[in-house]
Amino acid sequence: KKLRVGVVFGGRSGEHEVSLRSAASILEAIDRKKYDVVPIGIAKNGQWLSGGKAQALLAGESSQGSLPAKAGRKQAHAKAGAAVANALETEAADELSSLDTGKLDVVFPVLHGTFGEDGTVQGMLEMADIAYVGSGVLGSAVGMDKDAMKVMFAAAGLPIVKHVTLLRSEWKGSPRKCVARVEERLQYPVFVKPANLGSSVGISKVKTRAELAPAINEAAKFDRKIVIEEGVGGTGRTRATGKARELEIAVLGNDDPIASVVGEIVPDREFYDYESKYDSNSTSEPVIPAKLSRAESKQMREMAVRAFRACDLSGLARVDFLMEAAPSGTPGKAAKPAKIYLNEVNTMPGFTSISMYPKLWQASGIPYAELIDRLIQLALERHAERK
Ligand code: ADP
Ligand code: MG
Ligand code: MG
Repeated sequence: KKLRVGVVFGGRSGEHEVSLRSAASILEAIDRKKYDVVPIGIAKNGQWLSGGKAQALLAGESSQGSLPAKAGRKQAHAKAGAAVANALETEAADELSSLDTGKLDVVFPVLHGTFGEDGTVQGMLEMADIAYVGSGVLGSAVGMDKDAMKVMFAAAGLPIVKHVTLLRSEWKGSPRKCVARVEERLQYPVFVKPANLGSSVGISKVKTRAELAPAINEAAKFDRKIVIEEGVGGTGRTRATGKARELEIAVLGNDDPIASVVGEIVPDREFYDYESKYDSNSTSEPVIPAKLSRAESKQMREMAVRAFRACDLSGLARVDFLMEAAPSGTPGKAAKPAKIYLNEVNTMPGFTSISMYPKLWQASGIPYAELIDRLIQLALERHAERK
């Protein structure tokens, strides 16, 4: 018997479009002999859509849905619950929802960012007792919160950059004290980030005190928690001027996860910001495998698995590192080994067939369609294991 797989895409976050692209790739590649696929869309206003409306959202014909953003919210939540109830117990719940999804065996929530990658949708699926791809509530929430994530990394003995976490209320209450706290602990340049976000939204690189307050105000627009980190750059004298190397590893599995080869992103800008991630004119190109010594890549792959475990992740994650760059002209031949820091985990990384996560597995011997297959199997295993 074929399994019914609900693929959920879109969502209320700033990464709505990225999600649509990931889902389109999955729908195209998934093995239709094994799976019956049920597309489920979430419009930008939070409205849940199925059938033709979900297809239309995917095709970019209606990225708004029909409800105004705020008013749609409550109703959207009711609908989400109803959709799940409907999926669970067909007849009785039929009237509850206009969503005709039927009973689902497993859900693939291809959602990035808030209300999708952060444990919220995962919690709903737990309550509905439906298997789903990826991390559970805790792992998803930790993976979304750059402050909590650092606590987990540090507890596991993984190297992280020096940082300060501020609450928006502390910043509004006493900016001078906050600036003092930052400068006491960190050297410029620093990176200012909203704690719970992705795609580099709200992130600034700050080189001087004068730039600090505007950067914190910007990050505070997105989150009540702001993380400020010392910038990773070059080594020694080039510390402040050099650009960090950005290395990424794909991890796959549940309790006994495996790590892919290491890939490298070479941003075409000052840092890997929103434009260099998504602008089609951007020339940021992944290098797979990254140019590293054997010892370095071995060390990083071990760290990636430890990071996955430290955050209690499951299914998949892309683990991202920052590495001090050797001064140009001496690639990999610095006197001291370059320092490697864990930057973050992404529990639902970009998943188009040309995104880094699938590309890393492709290069490690797992083609795209098989990857989807394995993720679904891992979801079912985890669901069975849970009780
Ligand atoms: P997101 O979850 O939005 O991707 P990141 O923490 O990965 O947030 O930051 C986005 C980008 O900003 C990174 O890919 C990197 O280019 C740059 N960056 C972030 N933190 C640092 C840091 N401490 N040192 C150097 N570059 C950084
Ligand atoms: Mg991220
Ligand atoms: Mg990142």
